[in-house]
Amino acid sequence: MKAFFTLFIAAFLFFGCSAFSQTKSQALSKINTEGFQRSQVMQLIGDLSDVYGPRLTGTDQYLTAAQWAKKTLENWGVDKVYFENYCDDCMGWEVKSFNVEMIEPAYMKIHAYPYAWTESSNGVQIGDMVWIENYGDIEAVKKQWAGKLEGKTVLIGSVPKQNMLFDPLSTRFTKEEIEGAKKDILPASPSPLGPTSGNVDLVANKDVVFEKGMRKNDAFYAFLKEEGALSILGTTPLSPGIVHPSGTYSFRESHIKSVPYFAISPESFGKLKRLVDRSIQPKIKFHLDSELYLKPKNNVNIIGEITGSDPVLKDEVVMIGAHFDTWHPASGATDNGAGTGVMMEVMRIIKATGLKPKRTIRIALWGGEEQGFLGSLAYAEDHYGKVGETSRKKEVEKISAYLNMDNGAGKMRGIYLQGNEGVRPIFEEMLTPYKHLDVDNLSIQNTNYTDHDVFDYYKIPGFQIIQDMLNYFTVTHHTNLDALEYVPERDVMINATVIAALVYQIAEREEMMPREE
Ligand SMILES: [Zn+2]
Repeated sequence: MKAFFTLFIAAFLFFGCSAFSQTKSQALSKINTEGFQRSQVMQLIGDLSDVYGPRLTGTDQYLTAAQWAKKTLENWGVDKVYFENYCDDCMGWEVKSFNVEMIEPAYMKIHAYPYAWTESSNGVQIGDMVWIENYGDIEAVKKQWAGKLEGKTVLIGSVPKQNMLFDPLSTRFTKEEIEGAKKDILPASPSPLGPTSGNVDLVANKDVVFEKGMRKNDAFYAFLKEEGALSILGTTPLSPGIVHPSGTYSFRESHIKSVPYFAISPESFGKLKRLVDRSIQPKIKFHLDSELYLKPKNNVNIIGEITGSDPVLKDEVVMIGAHFDTWHPASGATDNGAGTGVMMEVMRIIKATGLKPKRTIRIALWGGEEQGFLGSLAYAEDHYGKVGETSRKKEVEKISAYLNMDNGAGKMRGIYLQGNEGVRPIFEEMLTPYKHLDVDNLSIQNTNYTDHDVFDYYKIPGFQIIQDMLNYFTVTHHTNLDALEYVPERDVMINATVIAALVYQIAEREEMMPREE
């Protein structure tokens, strides 16, 4: 790998100079050397995953990891590193111990992981199981099940579709897919480049999209509790064998907490349901020892700055960010250890090169993204003005651009322009030296469901990086397999180096990045 990059740097120095000023060319050469030959990005993602992961919102583990990140940035000489609190009533929750088994009609280990913020069991519990397929209509559920659930484990939801694994689990975008996305013109259609794309303004509609969506099963959880049900088993099928326990959002102190609720593998679900169909009664034995606590000091965004060198332009800021929180069933290596590690490495590269960018470069590592952009929204409301109000603080005008990383560990393939045509020629020029890495594909499309949405809402040029999906939505995303094994070194090394080069160039431009008309 080293030989490949050495060649690349030599070629770049030789041919690249005509299109660039000498100083820019030298600066990018330094960035390339630091990013490709002295990379620490895998070490960082390893620290984040194996030592400090997972990092569920509100937990002591999250704060310990945040303290590590702060110290790491400080050790590199990042000028100002500090925490900003984003939530006073977001609770921490940790698993201490759990087990789920079927003990009748025959023994079967149930592949499970508890959903976050659900209650502990009162020691080991044993009970019969019933199946409730539809639980959205609470009145219908009450009518059918009132008085029948005491001492029962409840299997909920429909049987997952059979998946014979004919399709590959891991993919990179094909040339056709990328070319298709590039051809799109405004108004942008939903992107073919992955399920996170769309045109809904999540921030403007956050009460509908997040609050209502997150609370939709609360009445059901409350009913099961009242009825004395013992536990819930459910599945969110992704790929065979995988357990996918994200999607309970009882993180605030005021939210109802469910009885012990376990995500189980599609195969465990399938067998339990088929036994019910045959009128064979499964007996479930389980325990869950979890700890729920409120420590507002755990709920921090981590902010760090490299102060700009130009006496005037230093008041303008180029921001990069990634969410620092993860779900809980594995290490959070791809969501979002990879994005966090890459953005931290960008700061390291810029400091290590000794370059002195004119504008200030600020990194923000957000908490609570998985619960609806809690960290980035609180930051924006503090610094830019309230969502839903028209008045804006001065600071909003000083942010040139925000780049976000949160689509797994796959290689950068380009940038979603988020409807902002004005930035296209600028990004094209900035990415020219990296064309041979195929990272320069620009799509006018919007993508959403991550923190750049917040900046987009405030009309700050906010961009999410287009990344190869790899096995993000088939294997690792919010699952028990979100582990370092699925982070390819070459991909994240390229991501950090190219983004460092972009950030440096944005910080050096004569003008700020153009805003959407
Ligand atoms: Zn994420």
